[in-house]
Amino acid sequence: MNKDQKHQSVSSPLTLHPSPLMMPDKFHEECAVFGVFGHEEAANLTYLGLYALQHRGQEASGIVSGDGDQFFVQKGMGLVADLYDKSVLAKLPGHMAIGHNRYSTAGGNDLKNVQPLIVNFALGNLALAHNGNLINAQVLRNELEAYGAIFQSTSDSEVIIHLIAHSRADSFLGRIVDALNRVRGAFSVVLLTDNGLIAARDPYGLRPLCLGRLRSSWVVASETCAFDLLDAEYVREVEPGELIVISDNGVDSHRPFPKKDPAMCVFEYVYFARPDSRIFGGDVVYTTRKALGMQLARESWVPADIVIPVPDSGVPAALGYAEGGGIPFETGLIRNHYVGRTFIEPEQSIRHFGVKVKLNAVSEVLRGKRVVVVDDSLVRGTTSRKIVKMIRQAGAKEVHMRISSPPIVSPCFYGIDTPTKKELIASDHTAEEIRKYITADSLAYLSIDGMLKAAPGRPDQYCSACFTERYPIPFTRAEELQLGLFEPTY
Ligand code: AMP
Ligand code: SF4
Repeated sequence: MNKDQKHQSVSSPLTLHPSPLMMPDKFHEECAVFGVFGHEEAANLTYLGLYALQHRGQEASGIVSGDGDQFFVQKGMGLVADLYDKSVLAKLPGHMAIGHNRYSTAGGNDLKNVQPLIVNFALGNLALAHNGNLINAQVLRNELEAYGAIFQSTSDSEVIIHLIAHSRADSFLGRIVDALNRVRGAFSVVLLTDNGLIAARDPYGLRPLCLGRLRSSWVVASETCAFDLLDAEYVREVEPGELIVISDNGVDSHRPFPKKDPAMCVFEYVYFARPDSRIFGGDVVYTTRKALGMQLARESWVPADIVIPVPDSGVPAALGYAEGGGIPFETGLIRNHYVGRTFIEPEQSIRHFGVKVKLNAVSEVLRGKRVVVVDDSLVRGTTSRKIVKMIRQAGAKEVHMRISSPPIVSPCFYGIDTPTKKELIASDHTAEEIRKYITADSLAYLSIDGMLKAAPGRPDQYCSACFTERYPIPFTRAEELQLGLFEPTY
């Protein structure tokens, strides 16, 4: 790839918006949401749902249940498996509940930021679980603070709560619609009131949100893998721009937001969603990930003896590459699944210790071979560099790196954790420069068109802004300033 190729056009209606040159050290979240209505073990099911959605956020988790009069809350920092047990769940009675798993890169270790956020208004109790990032959160926050609002957290999502409180509408639903109509960016939200659940998805449908059924109860979740664990049946996705109210009257659908062209996050298919989930109304993610690998083989086949994945995220694409390219698939790298956040390195330093703790090369598989190694994405390039060296040290004759997505050239503002633009290696390096840096014999990315072709449905229904710099939601001047974006020069 050369620099010009980075700006190749895609068949998309999205317009070119100012290029974000830097990303401030800002609170930034990847999350999972879950909700259940009409089940006597609502909190228990929410716990299981959050368990299945752990990959979407590992720093904190919370569950709020309700019995129609009162809310019950449990929140904490850490993994779902460590935070809840029988005695904790016994303190969460009620026939409805919502839950949230959170991951954040900054301001993370503060319990105040842990969702669901809960408030008590004149109209009753309200709890909110939000997945996605709002691009006008800071602008709205400044405005609300100028009117005397006092924020408890640094979370984007609290803005929604304040907007609900400030709304003049006379029903809870009216106030929620008012609030969600003022925020811009990505939201897949689940709200709990004394009367039931409300689930809504922003008009672009940036983050996924699915509706399921468990006999006479209803469930909503970021991804369908949460339904599978409960034996719940997938009904459909909550559509972009749809708001559903789930109560004793069943499911009521509303379209309260201005219609927009959908811009669903293609990176959910590339990396983020679990491969066994169905999202965006498509087939299981695994199928798309494999198709990305097959397309990659079509675009950048190289003679080789074996194809190996970077486990776990690179596995389906590597299978696709191997099948499409007619090259045997092997497991040349083994992942240790029990690696925690920190580990103690011995005084006498060990080569590539950081990556070796997580991954180990199988020299019996790699020795003397021409190896194609497939990963889903290349962000800073540091992982690939270590992996290539590790494969070579295990005796490989050639190492060809294949990435089943295009170069990431710009940050995400809609809820996927990406580093600043200057930390994204592809933002200012050509593929050849990156190849040299990672010391591979060859490096190839998937093309933007190839990625969108492999994703289900119409190519123009996806956001691919981190690859194209075409942000589906134009930034206002105030948002550019608040997000630390440079002024446009055109
Ligand atoms: P890097 O060393 O920065 O190039 O990281 C590349 C690796 O990060 C790949 O193996 C990806 O699977 C993984 N990855 C991609 N996006 C993310 C993300 N948002 N959060 C955590 N890991 C990611
Ligand atoms: Fe997804 Fe990238 Fe768009 Fe963010 S910018 S929503 S990661 S495609």
